[in-house]
Amino acid sequence: MDLFEYQARDIFAKHGVPVLGGAVIENAEEARAIAEGWGGRAVVKAQVKVGGRGKAGGVKLASDPADAVAKAEAILGMDIKGHTVHKVMLAQTADIKDEYYVSFLLDRTNRTFLAMASVEGGVEIEVVAVENPDALARIAVDANEGVTDAKAREIVEAAKFPADVADQIVEVLKSLWKVFIAEDALLVEVNPLVKTGDGKIVALDGKVSLDENADFRQPEHEALEDKAAANPLEAAAKAKNLNYVKLDGEVGIIGNGAGLVMSTLDVVAYAGEKHGNVKPANFLDIGGGASAQVMANGLGVILGDPDVKSVFVNVFGGITACDEVANGIVQALELLAAGGEAVTKPLVVRLDGNNAELGRKILSDANHPLVQRVDTMDEAADKAAELAAK
Ligand code: GDP
Ligand code: MN
Repeated sequence: MDLFEYQARDIFAKHGVPVLGGAVIENAEEARAIAEGWGGRAVVKAQVKVGGRGKAGGVKLASDPADAVAKAEAILGMDIKGHTVHKVMLAQTADIKDEYYVSFLLDRTNRTFLAMASVEGGVEIEVVAVENPDALARIAVDANEGVTDAKAREIVEAAKFPADVADQIVEVLKSLWKVFIAEDALLVEVNPLVKTGDGKIVALDGKVSLDENADFRQPEHEALEDKAAANPLEAAAKAKNLNYVKLDGEVGIIGNGAGLVMSTLDVVAYAGEKHGNVKPANFLDIGGGASAQVMANGLGVILGDPDVKSVFVNVFGGITACDEVANGIVQALELLAAGGEAVTKPLVVRLDGNNAELGRKILSDANHPLVQRVDTMDEAADKAAELAAK
């Protein structure tokens, strides 16, 4: 889960990473009193979970309280790379002399943690990495040893931080590492980390991505979730413990097994090219051993998606044989009808694998007017795409 900058700032402060005063608001008028409290000047920053806000006009310096209100008004409601700004953070201004970059992240490729640091901060670090790779130091951090004084010095030297800020940056790196470990983060990034006119080091912008697998031991993290932004279908699926991801297309997808579902998405996208470019509407893996209730839950979510025009149920019977799945589908349709969610969209069902013959017979015998059986994956994908395009 990615955090907003203001949430990252709070977490930085909690673990001793130096930050400036900040306050998050949703109404522009609230900017006045905050700016007044800081002697009039403030930086007004769009809170969206996307980088490059500065370039997009989402970070503006206000010279007095009225200006802070005007800038907040201009930024609230702005669209930045497809993200609408619902909140702005007012931040105390900094007299910037230099802009640096530091981060810690999980380096999956090398199965370790990684520190990255550069004296060329402020700009997009991806650009530095491509155009001037030597300016971005990368130092592996051993998970058991962590960031000791010696490790922090090694990072400072590799990135060639100036001597006058070296000691402060060592402390920042140690605190930032505390954030990374204590909060179970996958990424903590400061860009820019600045040197101010009076030689102080402060974090002016932060990015934190938390590892949701650690939620069980991070009860405080739930409060950081942006519930308003959650897709209602994804929220409904999550409440029913379904592995569901909303996508842009029109063909609802249900399958058993993540690999099968992923290949189903590919096959449907390919088939869709012949039918007005229809695409998969979602990823949904109901897993092996799915009961009629789980099938009903999955179908319920997918049929509740107004974008869905047809549904492709793609099941490969394994331990849960096709006859059980077929019964599950038939019962699921009954459950939905009983719950007032009458099925009005065509379903294409492909069953293969263990007990496929019996499963197909059960579906044929049920003779549901909206259910069609198609016995190969490619043909079923084509049929589902064709129905969605109608
Ligand atoms: P990003 O563009 O989304 O990464 O947003 P940042 O928070 O990094 O802001 C972009 C740029 O705005 C920074 O690199 C700074 O140059 C500038 N900036 C941000 N905060 C301040 C501030 O308090 N004072 C001044 N003078 N500039 C700031
Ligand atoms: Mn930044």
